[in-house]
Amino acid sequence: MKFAACRKKEAEIIKKILKKSVVFLLAIVMAFGLVPANKNLAFALNNGQSTLSATAESIENQIYDKLETQKLAMKIAIFSQPITIKVSDDVINIVVYVNITGSAADLEIEGTTYRQAAIDGIIDNWGGEKDGIYVNIIVIDIFDNPIMNLNQRSLNIEIREKTGISQLTQWRSPRNLGNIILYQGDFRCTILGAEHRYNLIEFKRVSAHEFGHALGIGDTLRMDVVTIMGPLVWITTASRLDIELAIKANKFERWQRFEDNLNLIRLHGKSWWWLE
Ligand SMILES: [Zn+2]
Repeated sequence: MKFAACRKKEAEIIKKILKKSVVFLLAIVMAFGLVPANKNLAFALNNGQSTLSATAESIENQIYDKLETQKLAMKIAIFSQPITIKVSDDVINIVVYVNITGSAADLEIEGTTYRQAAIDGIIDNWGGEKDGIYVNIIVIDIFDNPIMNLNQRSLNIEIREKTGISQLTQWRSPRNLGNIILYQGDFRCTILGAEHRYNLIEFKRVSAHEFGHALGIGDTLRMDVVTIMGPLVWITTASRLDIELAIKANKFERWQRFEDNLNLIRLHGKSWWWLE
């Protein structure tokens, strides 16, 4: 697992809890897996359920169905969707599982890797104090955890070794996020004919912007609100407004467009100081 240094303490605790939950879950699943083999126990479990004509085989099937349902329920409960948002008063907890691939993922950028830069970009820009609320964000790279790799749904981030237009493939719901594709630069921005390659700060901002799409937020061309989803992505970070839009997208499982959220913009879309 990879965590940003700034949230290291919390990250360590969550890491421990997650490891314990995985071991606990495996123990339960293994224990349930043994039950159908024990017919006496199977009869005992079904006693009093008035299945008078039940044969040993049918009881075993019924119990098997029940156990499969329970196993599935546990799977959903513990190995949940790629991004979980929990709101409690003025603290927003966001847990993100990422699966980072691509030819540039383990290449170096200013002393770190693109893989780590993509994670840090999400944490640096979306975490921390946001105008009256605190966002606690934990990004877990399933790359380092083979147990989770099998079960945990994750946000796929592909980092390509070339320039291009970074994007999120089609978002459908918080369970079906699409994939983030990041490039090392953008060929639309040229300086004296040379394609622009992102520096570390720019790459992290692009990662954070695309993560905003993964949270279910659309782009905006508005220059009068502070948002990481707008044309001024280079000089701002995710704002309270962005967080509110993410919470709404998660709650209603719907893509949030800026033009449909004028009330939220009025409430939280703090304007730029030079326009005030
Ligand atoms: Zn965008």
